[in-house]
Amino acid sequence: MHLTVGHLYPEYLNIYADRGNIAVLAQRAAWRGIELTVEPIGMADSIPGEIDLLYVGGGQDREQALVAGDLAAKGPALVEAVDNGAALLAVCGGYQLLGRFYRDRSGAELPGVGLFPLFTVAGERRMIGDILLSSELRPGIARTLAGFENHAGRTYLDEGAGALGRVVHGFGNNGQDGLEGCRVGRAIGTYLHGPLLPRNPWLADWLLGEALARGSGEAPALEPLRDGLEDRAHAVASSRARARGGRL
Ligand code: GLN
Repeated sequence: MHLTVGHLYPEYLNIYADRGNIAVLAQRAAWRGIELTVEPIGMADSIPGEIDLLYVGGGQDREQALVAGDLAAKGPALVEAVDNGAALLAVCGGYQLLGRFYRDRSGAELPGVGLFPLFTVAGERRMIGDILLSSELRPGIARTLAGFENHAGRTYLDEGAGALGRVVHGFGNNGQDGLEGCRVGRAIGTYLHGPLLPRNPWLADWLLGEALARGSGEAPALEPLRDGLEDRAHAVASSRARARGGRL
């Protein structure tokens, strides 16, 4: 089995160790004998045809402004790749730019790709700290996601749009509606840094399964791994979020 991962703007959108998510996907694939190739997709690069999984990290307003025009131009090909079954993970600044637009703290409106049915407007106060979500990507199976958030952006989902989860502790999309992230089929957007995947191995496996499903049509059952260290990291991050409690 082989997977091709497209890493969008690794030079520009990579804060709070977001690059670590790629390392986790590669290692968890390798432990199952799945070959995984990472293709960096930078300025003026096109989206490769046979892509199984797309990834984009977070970034400050400055870096977002540098890539927004180029990303919007890649928009149709990116949406097509997802429509053709590619899985996708977008974190924070990358997540915001996959919505319709991001109005940053200077008031500049950065164009978005429109893959996610949402928009984002930066507020005065940053929403910072550990965060804990309840998430149900498989119907009837509620799991938790633990991470770290740091954003000025307030994200608003369209009526009826699917969130990644419900905030248990923390701010989430906007600190008001109790929602975090967005999900459109195999595409996931979230504010959770950390990086996200080392302390939430079930989500890494969900993404690998969905990426493999692009070729086979159905997510194969992946051999379980011994996640003692990951589970402890999740427990520590969850207890920090509980202790913080964060509200605007
Ligand atoms: N610059 C964006 C904001 O402040 C995204 C920040 C990030 O990626 N952590 O909301």
